[in-house]
Amino acid sequence: MVLLFIMGIVPALIIENVVVRSYESRAVSQRTVMVKNQCDILADQLVKRGYMNNPTDEVINAECDMLTNIYNGRILVINQDDRVIKDTYNLDLGKTSLSQEVIDCFSGKETSLYDDEHQYIEMTVAIRNTESRAREIIGVLLISVSTVEINNSKEILETRGTLTLGIAIVLILILGLILSRVLVQPFQKITSAIEGITDGYQDEDISVPDYVETELITDAFNRMLTRVKTVDDTRDEFVSNVSHELKTPLASMKVLADSLNMNPDAPLEQYKEFMKDISDEIDRENQIISDLLSLVRMDKNAADLNIEEISINEELEQILRRLEPIASKANVKLYLDSFRPVTAEVDETKLTLALTNVIENAIKYNKPEGGWVRISLNADRKYFYVSIADSGIGIPEDDVDSIFERFYRVDKSHSRDIGGTGLGLAITKSAIAMHRGAIRVNSKLGEGTTFSIRIPLMHVV
Ligand code: ADP
Repeated sequence: MVLLFIMGIVPALIIENVVVRSYESRAVSQRTVMVKNQCDILADQLVKRGYMNNPTDEVINAECDMLTNIYNGRILVINQDDRVIKDTYNLDLGKTSLSQEVIDCFSGKETSLYDDEHQYIEMTVAIRNTESRAREIIGVLLISVSTVEINNSKEILETRGTLTLGIAIVLILILGLILSRVLVQPFQKITSAIEGITDGYQDEDISVPDYVETELITDAFNRMLTRVKTVDDTRDEFVSNVSHELKTPLASMKVLADSLNMNPDAPLEQYKEFMKDISDEIDRENQIISDLLSLVRMDKNAADLNIEEISINEELEQILRRLEPIASKANVKLYLDSFRPVTAEVDETKLTLALTNVIENAIKYNKPEGGWVRISLNADRKYFYVSIADSGIGIPEDDVDSIFERFYRVDKSHSRDIGGTGLGLAITKSAIAMHRGAIRVNSKLGEGTTFSIRIPLMHVV
């Protein structure tokens, strides 16, 4: 509204001012030219009739009076001695005129001056001796004409302009008010729709198709809303999964403990066996909790990474040394092919966790006898690549896309013997994503699985 007001009123004000001023200056200059012409003629006649020596000439006097009447002004005729020989007001007759304009005029510089405050034009016209060749100045006509009617017209113009401007201001104000309401209305609709969602009254998407812009805003908002809902659903699902997973070992322990309680005469072997099972379940519960903690830590953003430049070759060798006992227990051979020395900017702890999970899986889900896991490391100028291939049980095609989900296990009963929590690959994926890397999986059921990891050599914030 303010914009409309400024855009409407300011130019109108400027135009009004310019029009009034240009009218005034044009009217004044026209009047000046007219009076000057008349005075030039008068000056000629003055000389011709020898008025400078005989200021009683009736014809000239009558003409002077006529001119002063027409222009509502005053004429003074000043001779070479600076004496006023004619004054249509009869006030200064016989006096000596020493005004600067008259002096200037005698030296050949005719003047013309507009006094808008007192509303008159004053000018001097030289009376030249047209009879002589030198046309010397023998007198000066000092004329002042009133500009009252020019000023009156100017005032009328100004009053009309102000009136029109006033009407325009009122109209612009009303128009501005209506327009701003109409323009802002769709945005108010968006605000109330969003507030409705925030307060929980509304569950579906918002739609305000009044303008292209509002449509774009609502579309973007709806997309964000969908994402928030997905996050919300995922969180709910995650919480229920966590509860379920944490309850399972507890339920087993309860069953084991209850059956011992109900059978006080149970043999010592049974006690020992059940206590071992309870201890295993506690380990499992511990594992789930520590995996959950790792996952929560991974959920933070990339700014939480503790980046340092490390040798990936050494890192992999260290991981393999640590996993070697598990591998030999499972009868799985570990191979490491390092194609070149690779150093990269990574968070060592998180990367180790990510790689360990994948390699550990490759050992866990391997053949019972004579299995192998082959790890290879390569790099180009931008990324380093780790591939972990195993000769294991493989992953069914339908499950490949889901294995990175939290708590997802292909074969729950099988994984349970092996002792997974279903969180390992979720942790791995988060850790790699934090490094702006990627992980892909290729698997054939019964033949083996290959995980391919790609991570940038330089960390980009
Ligand atoms: P878990 O703790 O159960 O191993 P992960 O998230 O690490 O959980 O893995 C998810 C599931 O993906 C595993 O339960 C397993 O079924 C499958 N999986 C992961 N790695 C392999 C692999 N190398 N070979 C076969 N299956 C695998």
